[in-house]
Amino acid sequence: MQSYQGFEQGPIRPPSEAASLLLRVNRNCPWNRCTFCSIYKKQKFSLRPVADVLADIDLIHRYTSEIRQGRRAPDTSSPEDQAAYYAARNWLSEGMESIFLQDADSLVIRPQNLITILQHIKTRFPKVERITSYARSESVARISSEHMKEFAAAGLNRIHIGMETASDTILGMVRKGCTKAIHITAGLKVKAAGIELSEYILTGIGGSEFSREHAIESADALNQIDPDFIRFRTLHLQDKITLFANSDEYRYQWAPDLVLAEEILLLLERLEGVTSTVRSDHSYNLFQEVDGILPQDKGRLLELLRSFITMPPAERVLFQLGKRSGHFLRLGDMQIPGRRAQVAETCRAANITPDNADVWIHDMIQERMRMGMPF
Ligand code: SF4
Repeated sequence: MQSYQGFEQGPIRPPSEAASLLLRVNRNCPWNRCTFCSIYKKQKFSLRPVADVLADIDLIHRYTSEIRQGRRAPDTSSPEDQAAYYAARNWLSEGMESIFLQDADSLVIRPQNLITILQHIKTRFPKVERITSYARSESVARISSEHMKEFAAAGLNRIHIGMETASDTILGMVRKGCTKAIHITAGLKVKAAGIELSEYILTGIGGSEFSREHAIESADALNQIDPDFIRFRTLHLQDKITLFANSDEYRYQWAPDLVLAEEILLLLERLEGVTSTVRSDHSYNLFQEVDGILPQDKGRLLELLRSFITMPPAERVLFQLGKRSGHFLRLGDMQIPGRRAQVAETCRAANITPDNADVWIHDMIQERMRMGMPF
């Protein structure tokens, strides 16, 4: 048997898992073909031995116990030990309430192996309240309902799924390896197992041309699933990437902010009978204040988007730029005189007008992506 390869963590987690311990169950993405996703592109998918995942859990348990007892930092001679020690320390400072299983799809491993991992977590950390994971709809759809219920019984209580869109046209063009029907089957299966479901919608994935179809189809799928969470992320894609790789007919045309606002508005307008919590919890989103619980907050969220859409163009530009420059977080921040004046001065100095603002912002984001900077 291969010996323990050392503690590992993967590169990403959902924003809502910032306080979670990241526990790597497998490496990278078993699909890795979505044209809009570059996270794992140069990485090969592999399974970690279950024994290694259990050893990671034991290591975190040891370090959190030792830190709690006030012992000095252990002699962390290897980089893996150091990583485990700092992961344990951070998790302890966050309250040790939740664990996120990595990487892109922990549900592709053998069901019994996942159950073994979940049970070991519960044995070592009985007070953990939440164990969550990313999963592809395609994987969930192939798992039996009985196994899903066993996952839930073993402690898995939230699954994050990147629906991105429920438009079959777009799903096909971006090589998501999934259809609207599969998204719905998977979503319903997660919910039937008693596991919380978080569905991610990728604003802008249809570009200008498919924006309405994206909104209408996605809302229809969400209406059928009624997930616990609907989370918006915004597509930011380097111009050199071919998004609609599976289409000879269509070329992706990035959508300006006004189209994206109308897209989110249409999607929310079309939601009927859902009781989801809506979040826009990514700093790259223009409208992070699209945040509420349906159905009671629907009117407020629609009003917020309409207020941006109906603004005089010069006001819209101020918000578009001020949000990207960190001066504004929400629309109401435009009324803070000092910040407003700074953004207005930037527009004046760079000659940014309603006619050129979208291209200016697009180019700025492209440049920042090239340089690996946040935007
Ligand atoms: S399934 Fe998820 S992680 Fe994998 S390539 Fe697609 S978007 Fe990226």
